[in-house]
Amino acid sequence: MFEVVLTTDRTMMSNHHGKEFLGFIATGPPIGMPEWLWMKLAAPKVKVDRLGRPVEAPYGMRKIEAVLQEAGFNAGIVDPDHLHKHLHTMKVLMLSHHDYFAYGPPSSEWWALTGREPINRRSFFKLMNSPIIRKAKERGVKIIAGGPAAWQWLYELELMDRWGVDVVVDGEGEKVVVDLVRKALNGEPLPRYIYVGVDDVPRIEEIPTIKGASVNGLVEIMRGCPRGCKFCSVTLRPLRFIPLEKILAEVEINLRSGVRGVILHSEDVLLYHADGVKPRPEPLLKLHEEVLKRVGERGSFAWAHASLAAIKYAEDTYGLISKLTKEYILNEHRKILGVEVGIETGSPELARKIMIAKSAPYPPEQWPEVVEDAFSIMHENMVVPAATVILGIPGETPDDVVKTVELLDRLKPYRSIIVPMFFVPMGTLKRNVWFLREHLTREHVDAMLKMYEHSIYWAEDIINIYMSSAVHAPLKLLIKYFLKYVRRNVSKYRGKLEELLKK
Ligand code: SF4
Repeated sequence: MFEVVLTTDRTMMSNHHGKEFLGFIATGPPIGMPEWLWMKLAAPKVKVDRLGRPVEAPYGMRKIEAVLQEAGFNAGIVDPDHLHKHLHTMKVLMLSHHDYFAYGPPSSEWWALTGREPINRRSFFKLMNSPIIRKAKERGVKIIAGGPAAWQWLYELELMDRWGVDVVVDGEGEKVVVDLVRKALNGEPLPRYIYVGVDDVPRIEEIPTIKGASVNGLVEIMRGCPRGCKFCSVTLRPLRFIPLEKILAEVEINLRSGVRGVILHSEDVLLYHADGVKPRPEPLLKLHEEVLKRVGERGSFAWAHASLAAIKYAEDTYGLISKLTKEYILNEHRKILGVEVGIETGSPELARKIMIAKSAPYPPEQWPEVVEDAFSIMHENMVVPAATVILGIPGETPDDVVKTVELLDRLKPYRSIIVPMFFVPMGTLKRNVWFLREHLTREHVDAMLKMYEHSIYWAEDIINIYMSSAVHAPLKLLIKYFLKYVRRNVSKYRGKLEELLKK
């Protein structure tokens, strides 16, 4: 039994039926079906061993688990339904989440559109209010919260007190958790909040190899991003490439644990060992060759994120997207390659102000063309992007939003999902104000509806290709029912947004 337990709520502790994109459903409120069915669709329970250790767990938690185990702590990840097995030994409870309070994208947008609380937030509240966590707290267990959404606790200080969260760690945790957990176990005073600055991020050799499998085989290939977008916190961290041997070691750990797939994680997969922001074919071909050799023909494969400028540059200069998809990635079992990309705006003027290097090596004036060309390249090569557009960036004018709407019109022919994100003060824009649904203008509403219509239009096509096997038939039916429901209700949501404009 563990002394240091790492856990999170069900929306995070799930492999989403092996289909990562289904995890996004957990960022919305249950609509058109009961909550239990929504949870079953988005976040089914994971397999566990007799100690309640999940076979697959979120990658970031696996890294912290590895750091603590290597430092000699009796620590491990435990499924939220099995915490009771460790109640009498637990002294420290560590939490992680992508979106604790549904303030991040796309949860907050679903919330704005439907007026209903997203399920990830409900699920996290349920965990924190559960008798087992309350009992642990009564027994004096110290609670440490971290992960990508750690910043959200700064807006929920009252909940931090009510639930007895002792410390929040914001940033890469590898170098700070050992000392922190040691202090917690020794009963020493703890800081309320730790921000991990540039000087405290781990070097490559300080990042351990995971000890157990990650959700859907996610494996990190680099950290940081060189593009410097003002609204992004990733860009404040230095760029580090994970050596190929280390990547392959983690792929093998996942495969040995029975996870039949890989998601290459990076803020821009195409920049793996790149020349600045210019992708280089050799390291990318080698990476794909080695990883896919291990995954085999039937294993799943995806990229976490790629930049649109790198997609265009790689294809225009080397024909690299065609080569990677046709010769390495796609086959009769893997018919599409999923990836997240950022459009953020269709306005070259706004792009120049807030993300001057996002279009590099092309100038920001060419940003709309870069986006359209990259979408066209992806469409041709069966790469399916889930794209984001940010509304309410400081300095944005109505004319900027009109340009975004015009770009969305031009993206209509390309297979993709496009979702709106409300501006959240982060990165160098940290001191600005949140964009809330009360701030929506007519142009924002037009942009939001255009994105919903675009995504609903393409979703069915994507589902048909992505879930073509008979095994997925019941799941596919459920998703199609949901899409039908959303399509029927778009006018209702349009009405809700129109009402907001009148206030
Ligand atoms: S390209 Fe993406 S990860 Fe890089 S700084 Fe911009 S928003 Fe952040």
